[in-house]
Amino acid sequence: MYLHGTSSINAQGHLEIGGCDVTDLAKQYGTPLYIVDETLVRQRAREYVEAFRTSGLKFQVAYASKAFSTMAMCAIAEQEDMSLDVVSDGELYTALKAGFPAARIHFHGNNKTPDEINMALDANIGCFVVDNFIELQLLNALAGDKGKKVNVLLRVTPGVEAHTHDYISTGQQDSKFGFDVSNGAAFRAVQEAAGLANLELLGVHSHIGSQIFEVDGFQMAAGKVAQFAVNVRDELNVTFRVINLGGGFGIRYVEGDTPLPIATYVKAITDAIKSNFGEANYPLPEIWVEPGRSIVGDAGTTLYTIGTSKDIPGVRKYIAVDGGMTDNPRPALYESKYEAVIANRANQAADETVTVAGKCCESGDKLIIDCELSKPEVGDLLAVFCTGAYNYAMASNYNRIRRPSVVFVKDGQADLVVKRESLDDIVGNDVIPERMKRTSAAK
Ligand SMILES: *Cc1c(COP(=O)(O)O)cnc(C)c1O
Repeated sequence: MYLHGTSSINAQGHLEIGGCDVTDLAKQYGTPLYIVDETLVRQRAREYVEAFRTSGLKFQVAYASKAFSTMAMCAIAEQEDMSLDVVSDGELYTALKAGFPAARIHFHGNNKTPDEINMALDANIGCFVVDNFIELQLLNALAGDKGKKVNVLLRVTPGVEAHTHDYISTGQQDSKFGFDVSNGAAFRAVQEAAGLANLELLGVHSHIGSQIFEVDGFQMAAGKVAQFAVNVRDELNVTFRVINLGGGFGIRYVEGDTPLPIATYVKAITDAIKSNFGEANYPLPEIWVEPGRSIVGDAGTTLYTIGTSKDIPGVRKYIAVDGGMTDNPRPALYESKYEAVIANRANQAADETVTVAGKCCESGDKLIIDCELSKPEVGDLLAVFCTGAYNYAMASNYNRIRRPSVVFVKDGQADLVVKRESLDDIVGNDVIPERMKRTSAAK
């Protein structure tokens, strides 16, 4: 069993995270429960920041808040000197409510609404990452209405394909995101942006995919973006001050996943920027990255209670937990793999292969197919590792299941950062129209 961060097994044979016995956490907060190892989150953030400091380049490490957006997480990002990416009014609101400095907020998205843009303009955020020609004109007009000039990056697709699952690659030409470099759209976007009075064009952004284990994709992207920058300088006399190479740095979910140390990715990127721009006698730009998964992913563990089991002799044994695709849709969406342990007997070797099912009315609601566990029994606690990114963030109320609480653990202390939804939260936005009330009253 692979233990991430501060996770360990204590003298009682229980899984412990951040110095907290997870069986105690289950008693106190109930299950399902998202547990986040705060020390590991901070460590990952520092790995990025330190590696960039070492490079000598100007930089921003923008936490992609979509991976796990809560006010407490925004507070940690702020304390760790990160910037913040947001993609919606909800993520922006979360950041602002948490007191995150607006100047370090970057707004992404391929369909920002006028209301969202106005909200971001009023907040004086640091940068808009513009995705398309319609947004370019809209942002310029809305900024003009407010008498503001705003910083922009243009999202480009450099034509680099990350070695990853189809659904999460975005750097290839056939993408809903960004201006294509190869067909000239990116060049025209620079030309247009440079002529818009209310936009300050800082540079370009590229994000080639997610859960990437190699450095070559980032090096290629840096090379293509540099080539584009030189072309733009020579043809349009426009110089980029910022190059943003996005996120996508991989983490270890299961055995066989081989991410590189964060410093290795950063060094590859900063070296590629230095050499590509240096060779072209181009003033070294500021480099921005946007890690999401690699900041919070391996710091998260989801704790469930096993409620039932079903043995189909010769076929498979299922165990069912008190959550599922509602708190972790990734296995159903992407066939993502996870590892788990019986948390109240974490010292016992795995001796049985079972499939971990959720409690939703979907046959596809399976969290782990063929999971090796130590004889799981009803009432046991199951800890699924590496659920910090894109779990809580993607959680739903399907089957009207309540979203779990989130606790941050550190040095033996646990703090609630998101409360479990109540049954009243579930019906909180429901409305019964008057005419339906009359019908039922008439009976
Ligand atoms: C999703 C996303 C990220 C973060 O990706 P991770 O794989 O979580 O690091 C960064 N930038 C953009 C534009 C994204 O869409």
